[in-house]
Amino acid sequence: MEIKELQHVEIITDVLCDACDKSTQLNYGELKAEWGYGSTYDGEKYRVQLCEVCFFRILRIIKEEKLDSVKSNANQS
Ligand SMILES: [Zn+2]
Repeated sequence: MEIKELQHVEIITDVLCDACDKSTQLNYGELKAEWGYGSTYDGEKYRVQLCEVCFFRILRIIKEEKLDSVKSNANQS
């Protein structure tokens, strides 16, 4: 026998981008970290939610910095 009742449940209807504060309309990417023992940020947790534009902007920055690092290492050898 099933017993039913109506319940009030909270649902996430939108996520605002942590970089630009715009609505993501639930299309977002995340950067997460939980730093462990021995790290400089031991015990700290991070969760950054980003809209599509900001996510790919930051991804591009990471790729550019990696390229710069590779170029810098190539110039040193
Ligand atoms: Zn954004």
